[in-house]
Amino acid sequence: MARLDPHSYTDSSHPLAKHVALTLYFDFAANTIHGSALLTLPSAHTGHLLLDTRLLLVHSVIDPVSGAPIPFSFPSSDDPVFGRPLSLSLSAQSAALVVFSTSPSSSALQWLSPAQTASKAYPFVYTQCQSIHARSIFPCQDTPAARLTFSARLNLPSPLTAVMAAARAADTRDPIAGEAGPACSDALWCSPGRAVEEFVMDRPIPAYLFAFAAGCIASRDVGPRTRVHAEGGLVLLDAAAREFAGAEDMIRAGEALFGPYEWGRFDLLVLPPSFPYGGMENPMMVFLTPTVIKGDASGAQVVAHELAHSWTGNLITNKTNEHFWLNEGFTTYAERRIVEVVQGEERAVLNTGIGWKGLNEEMERFADNMEFTKLKPNLEGIDPDEVYSQVPYEKGFQFLWRIERQIGRLAFDVFVKKYIATFKFQSIDTETFLEFLKVNVPGIENQIDLKLWVEGTGIPPDAMEPVSTIYSKIVSLANEFKQGKIPKEEEVADWSGQEWELYIENLPKSVEASQVASLDARYQLAESRDYEVKVAFLQLAVSSGCKEYHGEVESTLKQVGRMKYLRPLYTALVHGTGDEEKMLARRIFAEARDSYHPIAQGVVQSILAKHS
Ligand SMILES: [Zn+2]
Repeated sequence: MARLDPHSYTDSSHPLAKHVALTLYFDFAANTIHGSALLTLPSAHTGHLLLDTRLLLVHSVIDPVSGAPIPFSFPSSDDPVFGRPLSLSLSAQSAALVVFSTSPSSSALQWLSPAQTASKAYPFVYTQCQSIHARSIFPCQDTPAARLTFSARLNLPSPLTAVMAAARAADTRDPIAGEAGPACSDALWCSPGRAVEEFVMDRPIPAYLFAFAAGCIASRDVGPRTRVHAEGGLVLLDAAAREFAGAEDMIRAGEALFGPYEWGRFDLLVLPPSFPYGGMENPMMVFLTPTVIKGDASGAQVVAHELAHSWTGNLITNKTNEHFWLNEGFTTYAERRIVEVVQGEERAVLNTGIGWKGLNEEMERFADNMEFTKLKPNLEGIDPDEVYSQVPYEKGFQFLWRIERQIGRLAFDVFVKKYIATFKFQSIDTETFLEFLKVNVPGIENQIDLKLWVEGTGIPPDAMEPVSTIYSKIVSLANEFKQGKIPKEEEVADWSGQEWELYIENLPKSVEASQVASLDARYQLAESRDYEVKVAFLQLAVSSGCKEYHGEVESTLKQVGRMKYLRPLYTALVHGTGDEEKMLARRIFAEARDSYHPIAQGVVQSILAKHS
């Protein structure tokens, strides 16, 4: 009896389910899903089988062959982060049908009322399962160490439609009596105005990549294997289709670098502004925040990142969250290589520069707890959402870039392709990667201090700030700000959002309020349509005690729920110069809370709690 993963109750001596068939009835009035999960094991098993659940109401567990009940139990207490294990007692059974209902406070699901959507007429629901939220939708072995295929049958009220990170198995059709089994009664399943949609995922994936959305969704093809879906109606769909028109070029660039694209479709779903991340690499259908649609194709970089996960993350997956850098460091590296091909080297370098700045800031954030600056941290008992940071992304990127510099790009490209081909559809750990590295690059351990990179805290001395003319110019302009110099119009004439973001990020954290105001008076950064620029500026304004921007901070925090913006703005407010900012943070959260995804609610709550 041993845990396979510090964040899952999955027992290393139990078999891992290889397939789950889900039947899900959506009750929008109650923000609840009534469902069943038919889990299939590789062979008959006798004894306990532990499944992760959080806030799931389990009604019964049935042997699908005999129809007999399977005994099950829960521990008396429930961990707020990890949930509680559902323990089945199997006797020579290779499948179990669990009948359950989700909770309205399921941490993976955000239910939006019609008023909270762009359609204003229909409700909307969507999932975010990474890191450990799939267990709040259905009972599963919620560890990336376990991979399974699935099929799903969704029952929705017309005219809502569903999309899934999976292949559509059939056209929308009427419900059929009896097909729901014990998941819900025929009276409910076949009630007037209901329709059924079916999906299948035939490639084995970890549970955190399970994803769907349902609501009023419009769609348009933008490439031979790419369709854009959006909740926001035709205006948003038009903008999204323009922004992501280059998707096919990116897929081709990715294939040239990393090998065949193995997932068939590469569709994109633009979610409402409350989506807590920039993007989520759900296979076959990436989920995106609408804030990446900026009209200047810079949102393409988020798409490049999520696309890169098709190889690093989805094909090769970190075994547990302690090895998250294998997903994110590799993907950040791969993203920049794709950006370099489709947008040029300067763009990729700016991207690296923003990342370098972000990595250095994380060192300050974790100054009191350097464990989380390690590439491979100890996360026993730690909520992964709580310590989510740029470290696995940017330190991971730096590590791979360091290896590339050591052996040369040509050799590194061959290495990466071989790595992907060797471990595809597997979940691996850092040690497996290091072994593979040492075998394929003999002597590398004598050239790079691998132990320091993987187990050491902080930033290793052989990490590198990127070098380019534009990058250096921006950083030197930012340094001149300290002497009271604001860049001249001709110096910023061809700057896009990324240049501004890099400039603001490189300014001193706290400067004279009057100087911040005059920078904004000249360049209207607080009103930028580019949220990266706007939020970077507002963060600087709050830290510098510019109270005149509190209104703009409030409206920003009420418009979007992307954690990349919530974290710095709420943090700047609670670190504010006086009680006024702390009180403002609490009031805004009280008013905006319901519009945030449950994961974002938890993160903001913990920022406020640390400074109460
Ligand atoms: Zn990522």
